[in-house]
Formats: sequence, structure tokens, C-alpha cells
Amino acid sequence: MKFQERITQIAEELLSAENPGKVATYIPELGKVDPNKFGVHLTTLGDTHYYYGHSCEKFSIQSVAKVFGLALAYRELGESIWTRVGVEPSGASFSSIVQLETNEGIPRNPLINAGAIVICDILISIFENPKQALLDFIHSASGNPAITYNSVIVASEKETSYTNSALVNLMKSFGNIHNAIDEVMDVYIHLCAIEMTCKELSRAFIFLAAHGKNPCTQEQIITASQSKRILAIMQLCGFYDEAGEFAFRVGLPGKSGVGGGIIAILPNQYSIALWSPKLNKKGNSYIGMQFLERFTTETDTSIF
Ligand code: GLU
Repeated sequence: MKFQERITQIAEELLSAENPGKVATYIPELGKVDPNKFGVHLTTLGDTHYYYGHSCEKFSIQSVAKVFGLALAYRELGESIWTRVGVEPSGASFSSIVQLETNEGIPRNPLINAGAIVICDILISIFENPKQALLDFIHSASGNPAITYNSVIVASEKETSYTNSALVNLMKSFGNIHNAIDEVMDVYIHLCAIEMTCKELSRAFIFLAAHGKNPCTQEQIITASQSKRILAIMQLCGFYDEAGEFAFRVGLPGKSGVGGGIIAILPNQYSIALWSPKLNKKGNSYIGMQFLERFTTETDTSIF
């Protein structure tokens, strides 16, 4: 499989075309990123690497981190996690509040903001230091103990998190938040403010291509069944109200973030991370979506 050739050619073609996307600015600090950054890194199960562009530059992974939070909470709590959060696509934007009222404070899935906030509440109930537990999880998945939070992004999001505050308050009123609201918001905002490179991201997520096992250390990070179920949720819920479009065009389970990052997994083969900060109207990386559509098509590596 000529992965490197495809990556380079597709990247060069897309980067020379017009990009009508827009960088997210509702978290002011995110708006300061260079909009022309582009990185991609693919890690295979056999630990072969293919990459292009700014793949070793750190960026704010935002909602991509929700998958780490979910994996950690699921590992610790097991199936009872599904009494607190659903597994259905929302068909709505990432911070939508409308379904929460009719669903009586149970978020549709763990990858929208409301669902990830509940996951943070669960982590607070389990761990004495949930923020450290999250980093420990990522360190062991990635093999890199230096990955951490960006405190400037944390402060910036705290100043503007009105909608997320509304979500957590509504869920608290339904009894689905067990800890203090400020603490839950603090953990959630930290989760979103993790900084990683494409190389680190693709390496950290390879356990989902390997039935929950870190192929380098052989550590079983989560069970094979949990890994399968997380991939199913990523496939159905990983791209806000564009999850259908991503399945239709790309055909891989994945997750995006408003920092312009995307992770996508081909079970038994590879994980691929991309970063391009300009977003399409649904909040997903404009070039990221296009790149993955072409890459999976031209290398015939979709799951469908
Ligand atoms: N921290 C962001 C928020 O809560 C994450 C959104 C995203 O990446 O989807 O608004």
C-alpha cells in the first residue's frame, strides 16, 4: 500500500486549492492559531509511520479528547455507564441543549458536549485527581509522559463557556450530575484543552485499531468489547450533525474537534490524525474531511 505517496499527493493538491473554512473563534484563544497549518500522521499496527506537513506541532485537540475520557470512564465503570449517557446519534450541533429536556437530562451520546460533561462527572466520582487520571491514561496510550493541558486555552474557554454551563445546570436539575458544577466544568474544560501533535494523536489512538490493546506494550487498555463499542459510537456520533456525511464520504469511525483536529481508525490496520484549523459550517475541519474522503477512497481502506 503506497500510503506515503497518497498522503503527499492528496495533501499537496488540497493545500493548493481554495479553503473556504473558518477558524473557530468562540473560544478566543483558538482564533489565534495560524489558519494555514496542516498536518497528517498515520500509524500502522506494525508501528510504521507516514506523515506530511506540521504533523509534529501541538494543537488544541478539543473534542477529540472526549474519546479518551469515554474510554477511561468505560474501563472503570463498565456497562453501568450507559445508565447515565446514551449511544444514539444526536443529529444536532455539539453543544445542542434541545434534546436534553425531552431526554430528562440524559445526553444522547458521550461525544456531544453534554455527554462528555457527564463523563467528566463520572471521572470526578471515581478518581481523587481526575485531571491527572486523564493524563495518565493518555500517557500510557501514547507512550509519551509529556502530554498535558494548555492553561491559556483553559482560561480562554472558562471565560466564554455559557452554553456548556447551561448544559451542566440543566443536567444537574435532572439529577444526572453528582458533583459540584464548577468542578465538573473545570475537568471538562481541561479535557478539551489537551494539546497534542498529529503524531502523538495517531499513536495514542492505535489501541482502538487493536481491539483495545496497546500494540507496542501489549497492555490491554480497555477490553475488546469496549473498544468495539467505542468505535461504533465514534462512527455514529463523532462528527456532530455531520456524522452521516463522514460515514458516507470517508467510511471510518472517527472524532473531530473545533481546533481542526480529526482522528480516524481503520480496525486491524491504522489510525490517522489530521490537523487543519479552518472548519466547515458544521464545525469539522474543511480540509480534514476532504483529505480523508480521498485517502480512504484512493487506498481502498474504508470499513465499508
Ligand atoms: N471545548 C469545546 C466546547 O465545549 C469543544 C467543542 C468541540 O471540539 O466540539 O465548546
